[in-house]
Amino acid sequence: MYTLAPLPYAYEALEPHIDATTMQLHHDKHHQAYLDKLNAAVENHPELAALPIEALLKQLPAQVQTLPADIYAALRNHGGGYANHNLFWEILTPGGAKEPNGELAAAIATAFGDMAGLKTKLVDAATKQFGSGWAWLVVDEMGKLAVYSTPNQDSPLMQQHQPLLGIDVWEHAYYLKYQNRRPEYLEAVWQLLNWDVIAARYLTTR
Ligand code: MN
Repeated sequence: MYTLAPLPYAYEALEPHIDATTMQLHHDKHHQAYLDKLNAAVENHPELAALPIEALLKQLPAQVQTLPADIYAALRNHGGGYANHNLFWEILTPGGAKEPNGELAAAIATAFGDMAGLKTKLVDAATKQFGSGWAWLVVDEMGKLAVYSTPNQDSPLMQQHQPLLGIDVWEHAYYLKYQNRRPEYLEAVWQLLNWDVIAARYLTTR
């Protein structure tokens, strides 16, 4: 059984950028629903249930021919949703470093010029993602930083990339406060990114 960790801060901790009602619904209802459906999907597959969620998502594409189609789809959608939200709560904070330092700062300078260059790429990917999905900063298979978006709950882990940060651009993430104004929500999320955590995640990939 996979489990839902409590938020690492209070529902209202990210105000005024993200409102408490959105946080409560997003964690207690949406994230919980992904978890419940993931657990239902692995109920009769103990070999899958035994895997850490990251390992399950990494090996999922190799199982597209062998798993029953409904189980494959459930793992992709709900396993992805479970893992993506675990990461999302982790990389947001009401405090924390506003910019990375050390190795991640150097890698960002190499890949994007500077933090403004990264922000432009990330906001662009998030804005242009049609419909529901996520925008990502990842370490790719060559060990390089990359920015892109994925549809639905697809995770970079499904293409063997390590996500450093992910921004949820499903409407449930912002509609109560921002309605259709996705760019305003993205600006708010940028203010909340916990670069201490993101830089530490980067070090684990080196
Ligand atoms: Mn979400």
